[in-house]
Amino acid sequence: MSALLQTLRDICGAANVLSRHEADNDLSAWEQDWRKRSRGCALAVVRPASTAEVAAVVKACAAHATPIVPQGGNTGLVVGSVPDGSGTQVVLSMTRMQAVRALDAANLTMTVEAGCVLQNLQETAAGAGFLFPLSLAAEGSCTIGGNLGTNAGGTQVLRYGNARDLCLGLEVVTAQGQVWNGLSGLRKDNTGYDLRHLMIGSEGTLGIITAATMKLYPLPAATLTAWAAVPSMEAAVALLGMAHQKLGPGLTGFEVMGQLALGLVDRHYPQQRVPLFKNHPWCVLLENSDSESENHARGQFEALLEAAIESGCVSDAVVAENLTQARALWHIRESIPLAQAQEGLNIKHDISLPVSSIPAFVAETDALLKREIPGVQLVNFGHLGDGNLHYNVQAPPGSDGMTFLVQQEERVNTLVYDQVARFAGSISAEHGVGELKASKLPHYKDPTALSMMRAVKQALDPQNILNPRKVLA
Ligand code: FAD
Repeated sequence: MSALLQTLRDICGAANVLSRHEADNDLSAWEQDWRKRSRGCALAVVRPASTAEVAAVVKACAAHATPIVPQGGNTGLVVGSVPDGSGTQVVLSMTRMQAVRALDAANLTMTVEAGCVLQNLQETAAGAGFLFPLSLAAEGSCTIGGNLGTNAGGTQVLRYGNARDLCLGLEVVTAQGQVWNGLSGLRKDNTGYDLRHLMIGSEGTLGIITAATMKLYPLPAATLTAWAAVPSMEAAVALLGMAHQKLGPGLTGFEVMGQLALGLVDRHYPQQRVPLFKNHPWCVLLENSDSESENHARGQFEALLEAAIESGCVSDAVVAENLTQARALWHIRESIPLAQAQEGLNIKHDISLPVSSIPAFVAETDALLKREIPGVQLVNFGHLGDGNLHYNVQAPPGSDGMTFLVQQEERVNTLVYDQVARFAGSISAEHGVGELKASKLPHYKDPTALSMMRAVKQALDPQNILNPRKVLA
């Protein structure tokens, strides 16, 4: 056994260092990404149980110039959390660090370790009478460290912001194995560069997040969900404007779903009964979280939808009668990526644009792709309230998904990302860059921003041992 592996065992215990050199160890769960786009080969998987252990592991790896790939729930969608194929990288799995260190009701904060599963955080907060609003379909397995590493978004960004906006402090192990304790929980602290924001969204390339202090909110008195059919993307944007006006901060969700996307749910999960989609090109899911009462929320929703129907931006609508119906509507939205996976391989784009540009972007880009690739299917849905579209491109009916991916991915990506750049958008709204989009960054990121990013990486990780070749190729 190598000296490094022996040192890692001394730090974390033999049972928590799984080496690929031992025949019994199957490391595939840590080596394969969620979308099965990449299968790496790790030197070992190391599972520390404390910040001190993480620091010691990093020091040992630094001494051997061995790269480290931080990993939480491994649900990332851009090949950021898995090792390369060299067999020389250590996967640092954070899933044993799950403690809730403190819940400060007066400060409205909760301090948790990086390996806490998002759903457990939500439940802990709810158990204490608070809302922790970060919510996404992978919440049963993604971790808060991964959420912060990718600056995750999800369904409540419209009202509460993304992971970055919910974080007040971090504890981080640096590339040299030092511990930075920044778990202040302060809402105001103007004492120089904001290192917290540098770490958030850095995808494990600048430091290892070991704990975080996150914001809590009062639980809403009532949360109502509505489903509206709209005649066009322009109408969906107009409805969003009306919803902002009439619901104010109560508007906590605004998701748009194209007919083809809902058709996939209808085909693969027929038990779900998708409302209103057959005769309408787009549907919208709205959520109203009210601090007064259910009656108040319902009254507001009904007034909004009546006005929207009168103005022509809504064709038809239903408001969920109870929690079960509301959950069923959200379940349809969350099933779109799963139904797409059932349908076959496709080319995914997680893009953001100014909301006002989205109708023109969709119309022009749809027309461009249909002209270039006859029969191509455009499966569009996303967090319209945040200007975030999942603009996914599927093979023509009857064609093989894998062949389509191999032959068309580069061309389709260039067509879509050039359009995104033309409309002043971003090629990654919430999933991050990882390895998947690292080669694209030099084409689409401002060159000065990119050189500042390289300077930061060089300053904080001069050995380039933290998640090399992710984000910056
Ligand atoms: P991992 O996948 O393990 O890691 C992600 C990145 O963070 C990697 O670069 C890794 O190196 C780094 N990292 C992990 N832990 C740490 C740490 N402790 N310190 C430093 N770096 C770390 N994302 C959204 O934003 N919005 C969505 O709505 C959304 N929906 C999803 C739905 C499904 C079904 C799936 C599978 C994924 C979805 N995602 C979404 C993507 C994914 O869930 C998020 O990116 C999530 O935040 C990743 O958390 P994780 O713990 O699984 O991180």
